[in-house]
Amino acid sequence: MSEDYDALWQACLEILETLVSRQSLKTWFDPLRPVAFEETEGARVLVVQVPSAFYREWINDHYRPRLHEAVDRVLGATGSIRFEINRDLRSDEEFAGEIPEIPRGASGVPSGISNPFVIPGVKSSEIDSRLNPNYTFERFIEGDCNRLARSASLAIAQNPGGTNYNPFLVYGGVGLGKTHLMQAIGNHLKEKHPDQNVLYVSSERFTSEFVQSIQHNRASEFGQFYRQIDLLIIDDIQFFGGKEKTQEEFFHIFNALHQSGKQIVLSSDRLPREITGIEERLLSRFQWGLTADMQVPELETRTAILNRKADDDGISIDPMVIDFIAENVKTNIRELEGALIRLLAHSTLTGREIDVPMAKSVLADLIKDTRQQLTIESIQRTVCDYFDLPVSLLGAKTRKREVVRARQVAMYLCKQYTQHSLKSIGLNFGGRDHSTVIHAQQSVENQMDTDSTFRRVVQDLQSQIEKRTR
Ligand code: ADP
Ligand code: MG
Repeated sequence: MSEDYDALWQACLEILETLVSRQSLKTWFDPLRPVAFEETEGARVLVVQVPSAFYREWINDHYRPRLHEAVDRVLGATGSIRFEINRDLRSDEEFAGEIPEIPRGASGVPSGISNPFVIPGVKSSEIDSRLNPNYTFERFIEGDCNRLARSASLAIAQNPGGTNYNPFLVYGGVGLGKTHLMQAIGNHLKEKHPDQNVLYVSSERFTSEFVQSIQHNRASEFGQFYRQIDLLIIDDIQFFGGKEKTQEEFFHIFNALHQSGKQIVLSSDRLPREITGIEERLLSRFQWGLTADMQVPELETRTAILNRKADDDGISIDPMVIDFIAENVKTNIRELEGALIRLLAHSTLTGREIDVPMAKSVLADLIKDTRQQLTIESIQRTVCDYFDLPVSLLGAKTRKREVVRARQVAMYLCKQYTQHSLKSIGLNFGGRDHSTVIHAQQSVENQMDTDSTFRRVVQDLQSQIEKRTR
């Protein structure tokens, strides 16, 4: 009997493997140890040790439905899991990932390095700012689409923490120059004041480093490290959505920095209010400073950017070709750059001069893509075809279950695949309120977590929609 618990836990893990990502499994479930299986009057309890209360809480917050599913299948409906804390369970395995291992002393005891992200012996003033040196103001072309964001960024770069723009938050779609602009602030400051601690970090990296610091019982050092930064740049904060513990940590860091007059610069792919699962207290902090949007560049700016890129690379391109690209590649600046690079590569490979006919044929797919933008209507049609319902029902008052489900899924997908605001999506579904769209998103996410059939339906729809834009 005594070995049963091992086999039972293994079986649970095998099911979990199909329900959570490999990384999550490794991070959160590998360190756990089954220690007993108790069977009394029909109750079947698998006792599992966790390294800390935090683990237990995190698993409960994030994986409860999936863990239930696994336990149900292995132990039956009367089964359950009880977590026990065992502080000796700290994992000594190397953590896989791009982030360097947090230094630890010989026996897993903290080694006395106060900054977990700096090589021992290196002074804190030499914090690696993780900036790309190419992202400067000099290389950033100004246009109507980015004027406000750019001038605010310049003001901040000259006087970080000393303007009213603290925090400063830029938002806008992909490839519009958010990362470039934020890093320009950092590069400018670093150039003028090399002694200042500048740190650029994506919200994903912030999150994963925070999680690692917890695993190694070094969360307080994580916080301390961030408190020495003079200019903190966090990119793509939409990924903080729904990550409560990370937001809480960020909230404390934010307060500490802001109180001591340090500058905070953030970006997001949408208005913060439209990110699901961001705490109110953070949203209200964001309003202390300035929020500026970045728009799709207009024709003149697209032309100027292309000329500038060609110039930087020391190549001359027929103005007709520049005009052709600028007129046809409209969605974002990354694509604009991509188009130019592709033409150059093609011309180098074939030895042919770049001209308009060549641009037409080499860029054919890019140009077609921009015409096939996803719209709310096209997504509604895809979803209704799938569920075999008339599109008109999505905007109707009916609360029939299958209609509600299709409506919620369609709203969720519109939010995922279009740039429309919650408000505009709601309006396109029979004039519903933006809160209905938020509710739809949450309920789809919850159901995807708990119901694997439903998850497959949504994934099916996603791949249909993605095929269409290719
Ligand atoms: P985002 O972070 O908004 O997705 P990026 O900052 O990564 O966009 O920009 C995509 C590419 O376009 C980068 O190579 C960047 O240098 C370039 N770029 C964006 N905006 C401009 C601009 N105004 N002038 C020159 N290059 C730009
Ligand atoms: Mg970016």
